[in-house]
Amino acid sequence: MKRLFDKKESWSNKERKSGQDESLANMVKLGYKKSHRLKTILDENQINPKSIKTRKDLEKLPVTSREKLVEMQLRNAPYASLENPSAQIDRIFTSPGPVYEPHLAENDYLWARAFFAAGIGTTDIALNAFSYHLVAAGLTFHNGLRKVGATVVPSGTSSSQIQVQLIKDLKVTAYVGTPSFLMAIIIKTKEMGFDFKKDFRLKKACFAAEPLSADLRRTFENEYGIDTYQMYGATEVGDVAYECSQKNGWHICEETIVEIVDPATGKNVAPGQLGEIVVTRLNDIFFLLRFGTGDLSRIITDKCKCGRTSYRLAGISGRIGDAVKVRGLFIAPSQLKLIQSKFNNIPLQAIVNRKGHEDILKIIIEKMAPEIGSVQWEQSFKNLFKELCTVKVDQVEYVDRGKIKPDEKLIVDQRQW
Ligand SMILES: [Zn+2]
Repeated sequence: MKRLFDKKESWSNKERKSGQDESLANMVKLGYKKSHRLKTILDENQINPKSIKTRKDLEKLPVTSREKLVEMQLRNAPYASLENPSAQIDRIFTSPGPVYEPHLAENDYLWARAFFAAGIGTTDIALNAFSYHLVAAGLTFHNGLRKVGATVVPSGTSSSQIQVQLIKDLKVTAYVGTPSFLMAIIIKTKEMGFDFKKDFRLKKACFAAEPLSADLRRTFENEYGIDTYQMYGATEVGDVAYECSQKNGWHICEETIVEIVDPATGKNVAPGQLGEIVVTRLNDIFFLLRFGTGDLSRIITDKCKCGRTSYRLAGISGRIGDAVKVRGLFIAPSQLKLIQSKFNNIPLQAIVNRKGHEDILKIIIEKMAPEIGSVQWEQSFKNLFKELCTVKVDQVEYVDRGKIKPDEKLIVDQRQW
């Protein structure tokens, strides 16, 4: 049986570096010709595109954060002039902001390495419980599953009851989605009178978009016999890293250059030190160089026993900046400000907490006017919030005027990982 997805995964450091450097140099040269924005960035920083020859040269360029990308796209819709106008784009996805992403190409290997490393293949029937609606997750994970030959059940965000039915009727062997949703499905199976381990064949799970705590992992593996794997990526850059059977760090994808930088300077930190994950995806459609994920991690350079030679990320240690992920979706202060503006600039604050394995989003609102807090008002607030932020509000708490200080953060993350 094939041990690795392809030859690249066993490349020597030297082979990997020269392969990636060559792709990077070509990407910058092409981007300079095709993308008005990349040309401007290079010209403003007085960088000759030919001088970007290796990953080390990327340091000359600024890091682009998600917030910055939103700003660039608002000014220059829809892609901030980062795209290749001559490229045939397969699909366009969106993520909160809004940010628009021309999808790289249908024939790329997005997520296939991750699924292969998780042991998913032609004998698997995989339930893909990521949304297929607007956002990239559903379709890109779907494609990756097809690349390794698995049969996909595109269940998306159907209710947990429907997911249980599908797992049972179709003899599903693998789950792709968030860990908290898998836990909700397992709880549902109990309510419906099933014994998960005995009555179902689901033995593998690949998680993304949400951290997997050590506790929850143990529960899945020991109590329910599910082998779990973590995958890491971002809509803007695709897949970034994935776990192998050693479960000792996440291998960096061969199609991406990952830097760990000091968020204050944008310079690479020493190997092994904590810093922001900055990603450049090598491609010829979307010239986003040095995307700052806002996630903190460090690099593991030791050899992995699985045979893959790539360096690994040591999980995610936290977030820089203020954008916060709730149930796998980012909410950013800019979105909350937009909501405030629709309600007479009402003072509010979002509090993210965790109950068991579920994220809970509470909004604290100052009662500025008598109608605030009525059933009707709350419903219209919740509807607009869902529309603008894609995330559902779980609780609303009303406080007296002046309780939320103007210098307080708009989003407070009280979760402990
Ligand atoms: Zn490994």
